[in-house]
Amino acid sequence: MQDRVVLNDVAHWVVDRRTEPIPVRPGRVTPLPEVTRLGLGIRSTWAALRDRLLPTSFPTDHPRYLAFVGGAPTPAAIIADVALSAAAVYGGSELEAGDVVAAERAAMRWLCDIFGYPESAHGVFVSGGSLANLSALVAARHGWVAQESAIPKVIVASASAHSSIQAAAAIMGCTVVQAGRVDRPLGGDELMDVLDTLDDRDVVAVVANAGATNTGAVDALDEIADCCEVLGIWLHVDAAYGGAALLVPGQRHTFDGIARADSITIDPHKWLFTPFDCAAVLYRDPVHARAAHRQSAAYLDAVLDFDNPSDYAAHLTRRARGLPMWFSLVANGTDAYAAAVERCIDVAAYAAKEIDAAAHLDVVTDPCLSVVLFRRHGWNAQDYARWSAAAQARGLALVTPTTFDDETVLRLCFVNPLTSVDDVDLVLDSLWSDARD
Ligand SMILES: *Cc1c(COP(=O)(O)O)cnc(C)c1O
Repeated sequence: MQDRVVLNDVAHWVVDRRTEPIPVRPGRVTPLPEVTRLGLGIRSTWAALRDRLLPTSFPTDHPRYLAFVGGAPTPAAIIADVALSAAAVYGGSELEAGDVVAAERAAMRWLCDIFGYPESAHGVFVSGGSLANLSALVAARHGWVAQESAIPKVIVASASAHSSIQAAAAIMGCTVVQAGRVDRPLGGDELMDVLDTLDDRDVVAVVANAGATNTGAVDALDEIADCCEVLGIWLHVDAAYGGAALLVPGQRHTFDGIARADSITIDPHKWLFTPFDCAAVLYRDPVHARAAHRQSAAYLDAVLDFDNPSDYAAHLTRRARGLPMWFSLVANGTDAYAAAVERCIDVAAYAAKEIDAAAHLDVVTDPCLSVVLFRRHGWNAQDYARWSAAAQARGLALVTPTTFDDETVLRLCFVNPLTSVDDVDLVLDSLWSDARD
């Protein structure tokens, strides 16, 4: 009975927080409700979660969450995500998951189409871009293992590659060799300069960015694909954040060549309006990925004859996390996705224009996709940190500093179509008034 009352309340809460962002109250919950032998009961534990715990987080779908890369799930995706938890679907194999696997496959097909991948391409939804990158690099290496040649140990990555590439290399016992300059898009010549110093047989893969996390910059993918093709090296493109921009016709040319990548990472939980956690790894030819990742054991013989989502990444049990995106695509239609992504790019352009026009602010590099980097005249790293902490504490905005060319600057990243030009004005105005205090 308590379950039913609380579930109703949860449903209302879910709806209400969409219309009225929950106020942010950063700080600690003291005391945190304790884990006890007899338990508090659902009703009061939910009350503590709703009223005390959750408000301490700065939700990524707050219209002024502009730090890192946020995420703003659609109501449709949230509905499916909740239902998926309740339905206890085992998303690892076709045997149990039924047509949930088919729905995830349809969502995967849509992603493959965005990148211009052939019908034979396939992949899987995983927990994050980090696991997607690791899984792709392990698949890349598997080709060499299959040939029984010496196992390559070098990953050549764009100098602004995400930190997860370094982490994947560490797990794999590989080293990363950087190509190009930090925070600048990598070109074919710069890549060739590095590859010329290496034995091709030592190289696991080249990792290029399609939307660097810090700047939004997209590497010269066509040139990079040329180099990889000539040398027979696996090309992995990390489009975790930026890939969504391919939905906008005016942005597509930036990504020319991406269809030539052997594997691609994209995170629907970033800019494709899907709840955490939902990332995807895509393979142009999934054969190596399957050979690399498929687990076998006596107790798995029953699922051997199926094409299982588990087979394409470093996991076995998994949430069918592609289902919420599929549901939302079916419900909203793909035009709504393209319009929502374009709106983020437009609001980023507005922010850049306002910054340009403000006497005390400068854009530090041309905005790429939906990232804007800028400086406040006369501020040092401590000033930025102080302003950022105060804005968070007041519940005004989450905007954090980063560095560009060794200078501390502010970074805005727009992935929420509900972020308006008024939100931008609020943030920029606070930089003005706080400085005069
Ligand atoms: C965010 C990001 C990642 C890591 O993704 P997680 O989902 O946080 O694991 C990898 N690459 C790029 C370019 C990213 O922006």
